[in-house]
Amino acid sequence: MNIKMVDLKGQYDKIKEEINAGIQEVIDSTAFINGPKVQEFSNNLSKYIGGINVVPCANGTDALQIALMALGLQPGDEVILPVHTYVATAEVIALLRLEPVFVDVHPEYFTIDISQIEEKISTKTKAIVPVHLYGQCADMEAIMRIASKHNLFVIEDTAQAIGAIYTFANGKTAMAGTIGDVGTSSFFPSKNLGCYGDGGAMFVNDADLAKRCKIIANHGQSIKYHHDIIGCNSRLDTLQAAILDVKLKYLDNYTAARQNAAKIYNELLKNISGVKTPKTSDNSTHVYHQYTLVLEESVDRNGLQSFLKEKGIPTMIYYPVPLHKQKAYIKEDTKEQYFPVTERLSKSVLSLPIHTEISREEQEFVVSSLVEFLN
Ligand SMILES: *Cc1c(COP(=O)(O)O)cnc(C)c1O
Repeated sequence: MNIKMVDLKGQYDKIKEEINAGIQEVIDSTAFINGPKVQEFSNNLSKYIGGINVVPCANGTDALQIALMALGLQPGDEVILPVHTYVATAEVIALLRLEPVFVDVHPEYFTIDISQIEEKISTKTKAIVPVHLYGQCADMEAIMRIASKHNLFVIEDTAQAIGAIYTFANGKTAMAGTIGDVGTSSFFPSKNLGCYGDGGAMFVNDADLAKRCKIIANHGQSIKYHHDIIGCNSRLDTLQAAILDVKLKYLDNYTAARQNAAKIYNELLKNISGVKTPKTSDNSTHVYHQYTLVLEESVDRNGLQSFLKEKGIPTMIYYPVPLHKQKAYIKEDTKEQYFPVTERLSKSVLSLPIHTEISREEQEFVVSSLVEFLN
């Protein structure tokens, strides 16, 4: 068996003709930069997420950076974010000379622990960046309540959760990334909606803010060669837009395939001691960008990883070193900070292969191998 963490080739083979035709069309038109496909895809994605503005850009990291710039955050302003996340979330904050303020995560949902946000809010706090980690939404209703009470912006890092659906207490639903001021997403190839290179987008409710994001992504100009604000160069290229426009039509199928695979893992792992399967919160669907186990302390994670690797089963650790322990982000006044949940997770999480093409047979092999090691 040749089990993959993600199977981009298998996925491509099924839609090869459509993808190739889309690529060929762009090449024939030579409209490589800002070709019509970019707008077409943005419109279709906007429809998909419920009609709010979509501003395309070069990648998910830029989307976060542009959002922070568009909201007018100034050096020294504090931005709250979970400490258990990909580095990009903290990186753009630091890059803009804002202050990242870390909060620990919920031990079962792995998203920012809402009970610990308010104690981190100071007079300098300007924004919260919840991350919909592994594919399910953070507790957005609580986050929006805190944000509105303290007059803070909310930027949802939706890089891992495109297509997840959040349900409010009153029964209303919203797509991940459409609840806060800006939602940011990534089309990195392995993401749930991935292109064949880099890509990203912002989801913006407010039309003026969307316009500002668009201007910033285009060198701060709305009229060519007239630069009103400092911007950057962050474009979704037309070839990627053409690929994404094809794949967007299949996103719900891809999500269903991931959810089905997660259900199979849940069943197969139900009575296995030593591992905890991921829990879905009541107010969000889970799109399983990752299927992440928490191993009991007695389980030797390194040993398990190499055992599985020998059998041709890849696994990943997201993330092995928490952000507050990364050299670039260690600070004198915060270095003694303690985030017990994140520290425990960094030593005990293990993500199993999950993707749109995985078969039950492959999953059974993954689980029987895991059980073989644990026994
Ligand atoms: C992938 C990812 C990003 C960055 O996206 P890129 O397109 O690689 O820049 C940001 N945040 C999270 C949580 C991610 O998983």
